[in-house]
Amino acid sequence: MQTAISIPDLRRIRTQLKGTFGLVPTMGALHDGHLSLIPRALAECDHVGVSIFVNPTQFGPNEDFERYPRDLARDLKLLEPLGVDVVWTPTPESLYPAGFQTWVTVEETSRPLEGEHRPGHFRGVATVVAKLFNAVGPDRAYFGQKDAQQVAVIKRMVRDLNFPVEIVVCPTKRESDGLAMSSRNVYLNQAERQCATVLFRALSAAKKIYDQGERNGVRLREAMLMTIAHEPLARVEYVSAADPDSLGELDKVEDRVLLSLAVRIGRTRLIDNFLLSQ
Ligand code: AMP
Repeated sequence: MQTAISIPDLRRIRTQLKGTFGLVPTMGALHDGHLSLIPRALAECDHVGVSIFVNPTQFGPNEDFERYPRDLARDLKLLEPLGVDVVWTPTPESLYPAGFQTWVTVEETSRPLEGEHRPGHFRGVATVVAKLFNAVGPDRAYFGQKDAQQVAVIKRMVRDLNFPVEIVVCPTKRESDGLAMSSRNVYLNQAERQCATVLFRALSAAKKIYDQGERNGVRLREAMLMTIAHEPLARVEYVSAADPDSLGELDKVEDRVLLSLAVRIGRTRLIDNFLLSQ
């Protein structure tokens, strides 16, 4: 497993790796959710690279950029046995040189849900992913369904800007009680950790009535809200039953629906989603 910090070093390594290349972009603090993307990438590509970069531009001024968990030594140790070819850990200065002023904005898809509660978040995400794609030149890039709107934004960007990259979406990895794995779960104390299963429980409540035939968007959203209302530690930011591509809220589900929600538990903001089809 080779490592690179600078873009020239990364490019030197990359040009030596012939055949198809899969990229797994991450912000580090790796857990089994991140690691589950790697076997998929290795199975589908001749070579695999992982980027680790806590991207400052996707955090708002009152968000957790400073305290976001970072442990590069541990991340490298976790990646080493998996068969990854290269790990790239760029510096903020190399990706955002002095005078930086060029941004990628995916307009409509970035607006609702996460975009409404985290202004500028997807501008940061789209810009950094475009830069990672430009630097690495992957054939495929692997993302988690956990961040469903991120997937929609990146897919739209790839189509709109003609990136020659196939976006592969991998299922959400969960703890045994249903909590979606997330680097932010380390912020939770014991009581908050117990409460955090409310996201999975709320999604499951909506899925239950969906499986029984409910297709009314209002009722699906209500089922999530009612579950969260029973948790005193939980504060809901949004619940949504939306079209998985446009992310527009649905009155009536036709064939597919993305159920998603964001909930604050203490100081920690968690998101999760289920993608349901007929
Ligand atoms: P992050 O480091 O949070 O930016 O995540 C890096 C990649 O891992 C993104 O594509 C995420 O969607 C994905 N990911 C994060 N958590 C999970 C999870 N629990 N299951 C599957 N993929 C995940």
